[in-house]
Amino acid sequence: MYEHLFKHLLFPFYETTVKKRGTVRHLRDLERSQWLSANDLAALQLRKLNALLDHAWREVPFLHQFWGDHGAPRSPLSHVSELTRYPVLTKDIVKANYAGMVSTSWRGRTLSKTTGGSTGVPFRLEYTMDSYAARTALMWRGYRWAEADLGRRTLYVWGVPLGASEKTIKREALFHRFYNRRMVNSFDLRTDNAADYIQAINEFQPKTLVGYVAPLVVLAEWIIRTGAKVHKPTAVITGAEALNEAQRDLIERAFNAPAFNTYGSREVGLIGAECAEKTGLHVSTDHMVVETVDDEGHSISGRPGHVLITDLSNFGMPFVRYRIGDAATFSDVACPCGRHLPLFSAVHGRTLDLIRTRDGRILPGEFFPHLLKDFAFVQQYQVVQHDLDHLEVKVVRESGHSLDATPYSEAHLMTLMRQALGEHMRISLSFVDNIPLTPAGKRRATISHVSGLPDEAACLPSA
Ligand SMILES: [Zn+2]
Repeated sequence: MYEHLFKHLLFPFYETTVKKRGTVRHLRDLERSQWLSANDLAALQLRKLNALLDHAWREVPFLHQFWGDHGAPRSPLSHVSELTRYPVLTKDIVKANYAGMVSTSWRGRTLSKTTGGSTGVPFRLEYTMDSYAARTALMWRGYRWAEADLGRRTLYVWGVPLGASEKTIKREALFHRFYNRRMVNSFDLRTDNAADYIQAINEFQPKTLVGYVAPLVVLAEWIIRTGAKVHKPTAVITGAEALNEAQRDLIERAFNAPAFNTYGSREVGLIGAECAEKTGLHVSTDHMVVETVDDEGHSISGRPGHVLITDLSNFGMPFVRYRIGDAATFSDVACPCGRHLPLFSAVHGRTLDLIRTRDGRILPGEFFPHLLKDFAFVQQYQVVQHDLDHLEVKVVRESGHSLDATPYSEAHLMTLMRQALGEHMRISLSFVDNIPLTPAGKRRATISHVSGLPDEAACLPSA
């Protein structure tokens, strides 16, 4: 059976021997540490934290100065709670001190990635190959909680790379086949082609279905409305946006399978995921330190707070108390599954409005973060859909980055948006000095003033 072969032979061979990455070792460690007692878990976390802080004090010029200026205590700390004496790191601070954020011994050897961000601020960061491997392992551990193990037949309703060449697309398809998975493009979903997606599911017969929340909800509504027969997966895993209970219920009814919510970010990878008990999202405190704080920066639990992440795996560009831009609520419930990884009872602040067009296209809110992250002239953005025929894209320009820089020019951006939105949509791209926050103090990347079609009202995420 391919799944068995992949999990025990192909994947370890590929990761360890071909790629020379520690993914398999990290996965083994994480499988073990998830069952540690609360005390042992705290000790492991503290040990990793002190190693990271010690490294950052010595090797990261900006953090050395930043922490020194704020009177942060030198490591080793005797308890993780002492980390609250370190200042909060924001996207703006990282951006403004980028070179000084990279560890001296890692210069020139890091990987880098960009993120679109649900808050409308594209962002770039560096990380090490080992951090990449640890993140991959962390993702697989979380997916295993939904019985979505390595090599299991999985269909993704997901965003595909935009503007990729034919060759790249072919190479990726081959790679996905190796992993026993198939991608269907969530950015192409329209009101009139949901049947094609259901057909893809029925043909591929995945054991696991993975997708952004919004497209899965659109498909679920269509299945329920039309009574279409759809293949039953073992589990549905949702990601990238908050999943509310009404959406979960709809997805579970339509696919006749349990839905598992996950929470992650491109900056640090998977942060939390649900186990079979569904008491909340287990937060991986064996891989990161996760805090929630109020507006004044005080630690809170039991009510929504800003999420701060300290990624214990990334020694290339250490993110310590990094404010990720989402809010979440810690609960003090003990999960009956026996894991002592703490729980988020809810993750808030990842709702991105859908963009709709007159010819029936439904673009998930993830589309624009995905698209704009590669355009260096975009410092900040907000997409506002005024009506079915008019979309406004507001951009705060990054100084020093040309609008004509190929391949990521303004003209190319317009072409890609035109392809995705169709000929009928009037797209106005305007350059502004700043993008105002909502009354609640949040910055939203996509806003739609188009009310849902009557039978699809439920798929519009609430603000
Ligand atoms: Zn659990």
